[in-house]
Amino acid sequence: MAELRFSALREVFNREPVAVKVPSPVISDYFGENVFDLPKMEHYLSNEAYKVIKKVINEGKSLTRQEAELAATGIKAWAIEKGATHYTHWFHPLTDGTAEKHDGFLEIGDYNRVVEKFSGAVLVQSEPDASSFPSGGIRNTFEARGYTAWDVSSPVFIVGTTLCIPTIFVSYTGEALDYKAPLLKTLTELDRAAVDVCQYFDKDVTKVYSTLGIEQEYFLIDEALYYARPDLVLADRTMMGHQSSKDQQLSDHYFGSIPERVMSFMEDFECESYKLGIPVKTRHNEVAPNQFECAPVFEEVNIAVDHNQLLMDIMKRVARKHKFRVLFHEKPFAGINGSGKHNNWSMATNTGVNLLSPGKNPKTNLQFLTFLVNVVKAVNENNDLLRASVMNESNSYRLGGHEAPPAIISVFLGSYLNEMLNNIAHKVTDRKMTPAQKTELKLGIGKIPEILLDNTDRNRTSPFAFTGNRFEFRAVGSSANCSGAMIVLNAAVASSLRQFKKDVDVIINKGRNKDEAIFQVLKKYILESGRILFEGDGYSKEWHAEAAKRGLCNIKSVPESIGRYLTPGSRKVLVSSGILTDKELESRVEVEYEKFTKKVQIEARVLGDLAINHIVPTGITYMTTLIANVKGLKEVFSDIEFERLAGARKEMIVTISDHISSIKRLVNDMIEERKKANVIEDSYKKALAYENKVKPYLDEIRYHIDKLELIVDNEIWPLPKYRELLFTR
Ligand code: ADP
Ligand code: MG
Repeated sequence: MAELRFSALREVFNREPVAVKVPSPVISDYFGENVFDLPKMEHYLSNEAYKVIKKVINEGKSLTRQEAELAATGIKAWAIEKGATHYTHWFHPLTDGTAEKHDGFLEIGDYNRVVEKFSGAVLVQSEPDASSFPSGGIRNTFEARGYTAWDVSSPVFIVGTTLCIPTIFVSYTGEALDYKAPLLKTLTELDRAAVDVCQYFDKDVTKVYSTLGIEQEYFLIDEALYYARPDLVLADRTMMGHQSSKDQQLSDHYFGSIPERVMSFMEDFECESYKLGIPVKTRHNEVAPNQFECAPVFEEVNIAVDHNQLLMDIMKRVARKHKFRVLFHEKPFAGINGSGKHNNWSMATNTGVNLLSPGKNPKTNLQFLTFLVNVVKAVNENNDLLRASVMNESNSYRLGGHEAPPAIISVFLGSYLNEMLNNIAHKVTDRKMTPAQKTELKLGIGKIPEILLDNTDRNRTSPFAFTGNRFEFRAVGSSANCSGAMIVLNAAVASSLRQFKKDVDVIINKGRNKDEAIFQVLKKYILESGRILFEGDGYSKEWHAEAAKRGLCNIKSVPESIGRYLTPGSRKVLVSSGILTDKELESRVEVEYEKFTKKVQIEARVLGDLAINHIVPTGITYMTTLIANVKGLKEVFSDIEFERLAGARKEMIVTISDHISSIKRLVNDMIEERKKANVIEDSYKKALAYENKVKPYLDEIRYHIDKLELIVDNEIWPLPKYRELLFTR
């Protein structure tokens, strides 16, 4: 077995960077060339069709059959010109990735001749027999199929020779089976709620978009080493491996010069992203060795999520060309930083205003504070729901880790804004305010620096931080589809804004003026939400105690945390607003419990196999060598000398033997626990059993394996070690 490890290492030593061919050194020459965007529509569609479709897209409606026919003709012409032979409805099922089933344009026409066809009907709707996707019981496999429908707000694009149509995925009875359908609903909800509130400040606002910039962290591992680690191949993370003597202690990788092979990988995947209209902008080395980050310029949320899903796919494919594997797991290596996906989120109007960016005068700043406070309120009231939206098996290894955002959701605003909110909370009175009082308040508000960005003291330990003109939700995992978090955030903020409008109108109807009413409601919200604001070190022990006192949610258990989707408060945000039905919500939770159970189950199997098939035999081999050595010593030396010489070796034999016995015993016990858990019917209880009874064995078994790694002859150790995985490239 050790041969595989050493031949892998030799392979890596001989690698050269792969040359990258870009279509042009000027990115704008080819940016978006594989996307059927509006300019291409203008070119390929008739004037009439172009106008109709543009209108439909802008209004966020769906196409009629006739409109679809018009669009399909243009799309087909473009796609065939680009060399496409197939088309697929591309969707986001409730697994971690995306899904596609390709069909050819090919059809048999008259005279048995092959013709290329692509109709409006197949553009807008398709019925893949996608019955094996998780649905949480909504759809039995023998029952109705699901169908996919084009989301016109996301343009079609070509990957290779396949035309991809971004779609939602719903059951025949109309229930959402994917991430996109509910995400789109929350965007409409937030638009409506935010426009209503904007009307207090600016009558020209008719549309509010949420914006999202996703920072994507990832690890790169050489392909040869990857294949020598079955745990990486099957469970996406290393399940054993002693810490490397040096890893990230010196922070010498962070922002360091990018290694050559990695650089050519980055250039290559960036080039592929540009062709698909993904505006990747930032790249750098991250903290852990072999860890990196990329970030695009922010876009409208739905597009940003599609682009992130597509980007991960591109990265995986391009990595293979460079003989790398990209790891999106949140914690592929124990003891060093894990990977997240910071969600930079804000809201923007059709008038070009970022609602979370302070403006130039008291009016725009009051609008800014209104939206800021409503987000704070939404996070406070739904901190457990937000937590549920990012909690899953793989992210649980990261959240609350020494470098990752704590498992407690709190909001960081920076000292300037904190003081501002304090002022409002204390200066606004419920009685009618005097003109002098109002002027004073407005003066203060007018003074908020236009660019808070540079004035915001950054706090890297906060899971939900205000960073000058947006919030950064940092608890989202690196492998996640960001829709999960965005559905909850959008819905929670929409719900808060709707309530805000009601509360303000009540006061206005009592005869107070608008500004005063807004101030009073803001004051109330600030006082109510105080507990969620935290400026200190989110990693500290004190914060855990303090957060408990404040009644903030800090649930360690994954299933329990996911269960918070089902509280009355969560249902109010997600169900009462019409984003999900009770049935849809419950089925999603069911899917999450099952995913958790299955992932732990896979890890337990992988670890069990590796422990018994790789590690125990290696330990025994080395023990046998030691025993032979001891026997040899006995033959060669006198009894007295033998005792002196053999002592340490005998101790080693005992230690190795003890570890081997422990591994065998623990693996057996773990299997027994799995058997018990597997017969539990209720998915929540089953997930809990996997978490409490099975999962603890993973660490216990690993402990003994990692100890053996330190003792056993390096020459026969079968798996690439941490120092090799992290430092060889
Ligand atoms: P940092 O690591 O300092 O947080 P990065 O440059 O890595 O910053 O990423 C910041 C992300 O935030 C980028 O994707 C950027 O486009 C995005 N962003 C900036 N302004 C907004 C905004 N108004 N709404 C959403 N995202 C934004
Ligand atoms: Mg960054």
